[in-house]
Amino acid sequence: MGVILQIKDLAVSYGHIEAVKGISLDLHEGEITALVGANGAGKSTSLLAVSGLLKPVAGQVVFGGKDLTRLAPHQIVQHGVVQVAEGRAILTTLTVRENLELGGYTRKDRPEMLKDLAWVFSLFPVLKTREDGLAGNLSGGEQQMLAIARALMAKPKVLLLDEPSMGLAPLMVQEIFRVLKEINQTGLTILLVEQNVRQALKIAQHGYVLENGKIVLADSGKNLLHNPKVIEAYLGA
Ligand code: ATP
Repeated sequence: MGVILQIKDLAVSYGHIEAVKGISLDLHEGEITALVGANGAGKSTSLLAVSGLLKPVAGQVVFGGKDLTRLAPHQIVQHGVVQVAEGRAILTTLTVRENLELGGYTRKDRPEMLKDLAWVFSLFPVLKTREDGLAGNLSGGEQQMLAIARALMAKPKVLLLDEPSMGLAPLMVQEIFRVLKEINQTGLTILLVEQNVRQALKIAQHGYVLENGKIVLADSGKNLLHNPKVIEAYLGA
């Protein structure tokens, strides 16, 4: 498949700290690309630069031939590049359904939106059963599901996720990865940032390994899973 989004020589700093030191990465249309690495490698920083929440000091983000680098976050969302909200930042005093409707608030296609609502409820049946309940009463894993579902309601062309499995119980982690795979099978392009290297590389067609702000390995997810350097550094013996 063709390249839908390109990160070119992206560099991001916090004052004097160079967190991301010129990385390049291609997202292929309809595929999951995993960006993996240890704590502090620069994964979140890279993602925040793609979604416009941090301004890079150098480099470009090009989506479908358009340069997104200098656009505001809401403009990047309007182009279809949507990040799942950080830290499960859902609106706890609203109901599950209201959170989902907010995810699609910029859309004018009401009938299509209702179809997508039915679709996200089929992806996450537990959200359907809690539709009229307050989002704040959901468990951590359910809130993470709601955050993903809400992002899907914006009808993204590219979905960006920052460690969706963080802090979740093993069964819930399995469930999240299963759904990401299912979402991808509908053709949606995904950039998945993860410290859970094994699970991420299992579902990703392509993977990049980030260390100290630089990409040190790039290959298919499958090859990376069997790469001795990856096994030694991230997967254990
Ligand atoms: P994690 O999984 O812990 O989020 P990460 O790979 O996403 O790790 P980043 O959060 O992108 O890494 O951090 C990259 C580097 O930038 C680290 O050295 C971190 O200490 C530094 N950093 C991150 N956020 C800030 C900030 N707001 N101010 C200063 N330095 C920061």
